[in-house]
Amino acid sequence: MHLELTMKQAVIRRTVRKFAEERLAPRAVQIDASGEFPLELAREMAGLDYFGLEIPPEFGGAGLDSVSYTLIIEEISRASAAMGVCVSVHNSVGAYPIYQFGTEAQRRSFLVPLARGEHIGTFCLTEPNAGSDVSSLETTAIRDGDSYILNGNKIFVTNGGVSETNLVFAVSNPSEPRKRFSVFIVESSRPGLEKGPIEDLLGMRGNAVCSISFHDCRIPVENRLGEEGQGLKMALSTLDGGRLGIAAQAIGLAEACLENSLKYAGERYQFGAPLTSFGTIQGFLADMATRIDAARLLLHRACRLRDQKQNYSSQSAMAKLFSSELAVDCARVGVQIHGGYGCTKPYAVERFYRDAKICEIYEGASEVQRMVIARHLLNA
Ligand SMILES: Cc1cc2nc3c(=O)[nH]c(=O)nc-3n(C[C@H](O)[C@H](O)[C@H](O)COP(=O)(O)OP(=O)(O)OC[C@H]3O[C@@H](n4cnc5c(N)ncnc54)[C@H](O)[C@@H]3O)c2cc1C
Repeated sequence: MHLELTMKQAVIRRTVRKFAEERLAPRAVQIDASGEFPLELAREMAGLDYFGLEIPPEFGGAGLDSVSYTLIIEEISRASAAMGVCVSVHNSVGAYPIYQFGTEAQRRSFLVPLARGEHIGTFCLTEPNAGSDVSSLETTAIRDGDSYILNGNKIFVTNGGVSETNLVFAVSNPSEPRKRFSVFIVESSRPGLEKGPIEDLLGMRGNAVCSISFHDCRIPVENRLGEEGQGLKMALSTLDGGRLGIAAQAIGLAEACLENSLKYAGERYQFGAPLTSFGTIQGFLADMATRIDAARLLLHRACRLRDQKQNYSSQSAMAKLFSSELAVDCARVGVQIHGGYGCTKPYAVERFYRDAKICEIYEGASEVQRMVIARHLLNA
């Protein structure tokens, strides 16, 4: 496996870092404080092709490989984790499935505006009674001639408050356990689709997370993505890709924790010496740096397998599991290094501590990642 970035990947990282430091980092505090989605920044990122990263140029995207995709999510998240998850979810679980499973007509009418960032996408799987156990979905899609009629409730929809295009998982074949549900592309403008208020989140604030409900929402058969009954398969395969983005986001956050902690520890004097002179603090910093490198290696391995069209489900789960637990640990240690100041708003680690937690929960909680990895081990 190649450990070095290619020249193109290194340039991409440098370019995104510059943009993120100049345009996103100065806004991160305000985005967190207000909890409002910064639409103008999203438009700016759309202009840089960040909304169609792995989509081929013929469908309006940048046509990048997976390593480049995750480098971009990492750099955005290092500056603003809330913007990182917006871009990650839009790309990996909002737009990419339409490229992967869509018809030519669906790619033209739904994917192109998503890849250009003219529309924002969502992935609507979770429901009030279906979280980790996705098989217990209750939203229904009843066939009626050339239409399906959707009824049900989706919760915690990332980008939901600002989305135009939503991928909705619903039960179309209740009597077939392995083929119970299908996926539908549902425009936010469809009569019968209703969005709830934006969630007041612990972290990743500024992300327009909301519920979306369907009340006799009629959609044409042409809006079904893939074959009827393929929903579970498509959800699992899509989440393999989505988890790479969450891992990248967690690594970006962990990196930001390390950088802030290094800086603070060098400036803060106690007992007549900077914190960096104390062995315990050096150990904290060394552990953070080592684990960040390890997380990146796990992530880039999974990306390369994806690019080579090999099965990367277990490797993706390992990268997501390791990186998200790393982000939470780095944020906790980062606050510890900052002492009391770390618990106050002027210090970014306070935000990182809140932002990191959700990485261990969405797109499959850590317990679910361990189940995925164990299943591969036991089936091997
Ligand atoms: C900010 C935010 C954004 C989100 N964005 C999206 C989105 O865009 N689209 C979407 O579809 N969903 C989204 N989600 C939902 C998220 O994916 C779910 O919250 C997650 O999958 C967990 O489901 P749950 O909350 O129902 O927890 P539950 O499934 O109720 O689990 C609760 C706890 O029990 C554990 N657990 C459950 N089953 C087992 C088991 N068999 N063995 C051991 N432990 C178990 C879980 O790991 C967890 O720790 C988002 C959530 C949040 C908070």
